[in-house]
Amino acid sequence: MITITGKSVFGGVSIGKISFYKRDKKVVKRLHVEDTEGEVTRFQSARATAIEQLKKLYEKAMDDVGEANAAIFEIHQMMLDDLDYIESIENIIRTQEVNAEFAVATTADNFSEMFASMDDAYMQGRAADVKDVSERILTILSGAGESGVKTDEPAIIAADDLAPSETVQLDKDKVLGFATMYGSSNSHTAILARTMNIPAVIGLGQELSEKFDGRDAIIDGFTGTIYIEPDEATLELMREKQRQDQEQRALLEQLKGKENVTKSGQKVNVYANIGNIADVGLVLKNDGGGIGLFRSEFLYLESSTFPTEEEQFVAYKQVAENMAGKRVIIRTLDIGADKQVDYFNLAKEENPALGYRAIRICLTQPEIFKTQLRALYRASAFGQIAIMFPMIISVDEVKRIKEIIAEVTEELDAAEIPYNKNIELGIMIETPAAVMVSRELAKEVDFFSVGTNDLTQYTLAIDRQNPKLESFCDTHHPAILAMIKMAADNAHAEGKWIGICGELGADTTLTEQFLAMGVDELSVSPAMILPVRKRIREL
Ligand code: PEP
Ligand code: MG
Repeated sequence: MITITGKSVFGGVSIGKISFYKRDKKVVKRLHVEDTEGEVTRFQSARATAIEQLKKLYEKAMDDVGEANAAIFEIHQMMLDDLDYIESIENIIRTQEVNAEFAVATTADNFSEMFASMDDAYMQGRAADVKDVSERILTILSGAGESGVKTDEPAIIAADDLAPSETVQLDKDKVLGFATMYGSSNSHTAILARTMNIPAVIGLGQELSEKFDGRDAIIDGFTGTIYIEPDEATLELMREKQRQDQEQRALLEQLKGKENVTKSGQKVNVYANIGNIADVGLVLKNDGGGIGLFRSEFLYLESSTFPTEEEQFVAYKQVAENMAGKRVIIRTLDIGADKQVDYFNLAKEENPALGYRAIRICLTQPEIFKTQLRALYRASAFGQIAIMFPMIISVDEVKRIKEIIAEVTEELDAAEIPYNKNIELGIMIETPAAVMVSRELAKEVDFFSVGTNDLTQYTLAIDRQNPKLESFCDTHHPAILAMIKMAADNAHAEGKWIGICGELGADTTLTEQFLAMGVDELSVSPAMILPVRKRIREL
């Protein structure tokens, strides 16, 4: 048995034969031509055919993976309509008196190098797209057949990497899973794998070679592992893991598409909590209505230096696009206390939970805060992003946040950078102070989200990190429930909505009480979406 570990893109277990993705290698030759206008016509007719193909692909992708993910094929069509791109090809044909293939390949190389060298991560990502569309034209020009997978049986598709168009063109019924040598978890292919709910592992490196074509294998998408020619024990273990996963999926199937509504007709939004982009697949898999808490500090925790505006923008945009119009509430940086990041150089504190953390860091280091806000506002043009601020204790803090936001939006306006002008702004209710002034706070914001993990710690004076206090920690303490009720009443009195994103939101023994308080949203870990939906529907 050979075990190769890469990066998980989407969970699940698939067992089957490996089928290596075949590409017709096109060797582009430089040929001298007399009839340059004839070559230009050949190029133009191949371009028209490519646009037709892309239109069909767009429609197929719309059906398979939704509008947000299909958009890539619109971008490809736009690239083929780009005047610079067309002019470059036609100029090369005419001035160098060469064949269309050579002009297309040269232009593809030049443009993709230009994109790859840009600072902007989004534009860098376009380097692969320009190659992809140009390959399409070259295939049409050469009259070669389609690339793809030569298998009648469903198989694990292995490849060096897969372009988005290659991924979408695959017959979904024939794909058990994806395994690639390269690729990034930000790539469109990774997004598509998540959206298609297909176990996928990337970055397996060159150990994954074509010699494994046709061999038996298992993908464990949960751990990012591929087992080639697995032994009996591994096969048994993975069959059991797959069975458990399928059981969960069966539950999902029954409840999927159903409303979160009680027998008496009360509706609640059930959203999901996530820590990184890879979790979005789980949210979609479990039919989450939105994201109620994206803990953005994980972008900082996973990095060895401050994540740049561009890096953050790409991450937020991707989550927003993947959620295709559903609400995505991104919480601004919440570090300090148990979440320490070396490069922030935070001093040791006597009482870190009561210390320099979350919004306190952002308000005293506005440059860090503004970088994140700029990324969030820019990403808001690509989906329904809402922003939420942690650890609030006063109205003044909210006012100060709004001043900083005004500076950011002024800068964006001046640079004519688009953003959603009606972005919802909310705060976490996770300190007793915020509860006590919640009526005033509700006047300032669009929504509340109760962070019961911290609210419990601060209300009961019980350090959430201290295992010795477990027996004292009554998460159903009447003081906590009274606080949630008070915040809910005050939110509603000001016409604002309230959710719960702490762990208590997933406690199905309390769902009835939360609904009685009129809580509008419960944000829970992806795996808890369906159990909570089940409970709501029973009430
Ligand atoms: C909370 O405090 O309840 C919360 C949701 O935030 P975190 O657990 O990240 O502090
Ligand atoms: Mg908290």
